[in-house]
Amino acid sequence: MKSYESLANYCKEHNTTLVAVSKTKPNSAIEELYNQGQRIFGENRVQELVDKEATLPKDIAWHMIGHLQTNKVKYISAFVDMIQSGDRTSLLKEINKEALKSQRKIDVLLQIKIAQEESKHGWDIAQLKELLSNGLLEKYENINFRGVMGMATFTDNETQVSQEFKNLKSYFDQLQSQYFSNISTFDTISMGMSGDYELAISAGSNMVRVGSLLFGKRS
Ligand SMILES: *Cc1c(COP(=O)(O)O)cnc(C)c1O
Repeated sequence: MKSYESLANYCKEHNTTLVAVSKTKPNSAIEELYNQGQRIFGENRVQELVDKEATLPKDIAWHMIGHLQTNKVKYISAFVDMIQSGDRTSLLKEINKEALKSQRKIDVLLQIKIAQEESKHGWDIAQLKELLSNGLLEKYENINFRGVMGMATFTDNETQVSQEFKNLKSYFDQLQSQYFSNISTFDTISMGMSGDYELAISAGSNMVRVGSLLFGKRS
């Protein structure tokens, strides 16, 4: 484990936003970091997110980082600060609909598949570009597209992980210049977790999602 202070300072020095991934951890663990100044927390299950939001301080910015079923968007749309797992059209459509109902715009990252594993969700970059070329994402007026998110392959091979992060950085640059050049808030590259956040930051990440390194192993 690493102290909150040293990780927070490392991120600050590298102009990187730290998302503390608190999934499966009790409120007391979140409050401990909150009292040290952390305000952004990431969760991957809707029910858990809803329960924590209801009881913890209101100035916490909650990020949904896990695979999101369309029928559950409505439970988080009124308060969620960012949905990092925007990985398919049906989900974007639903987020847009629920954001409109809540009379707000929701920040969303486009989750892109960079890993080799079949299990990882995310857009195929070519398919995403095709949708963007056809103007298909412009109709989501209540979504504020903020950037990209990705997860590297679960492997000890640092060369591979680093290459996957560089690929995501490159995809971000391409999307930004080709499709989002007049949207100044398309500025976020969310990549890097407990085991690979330094590699990710070297490759251009400006948002890391760190859980076990801060909170200890999950059971
Ligand atoms: C759990 C999770 C993390 C954090 O993982 P750690 O290895 O515990 O830091 C980051 N991103 C996503 C999408 C996760 O589900």
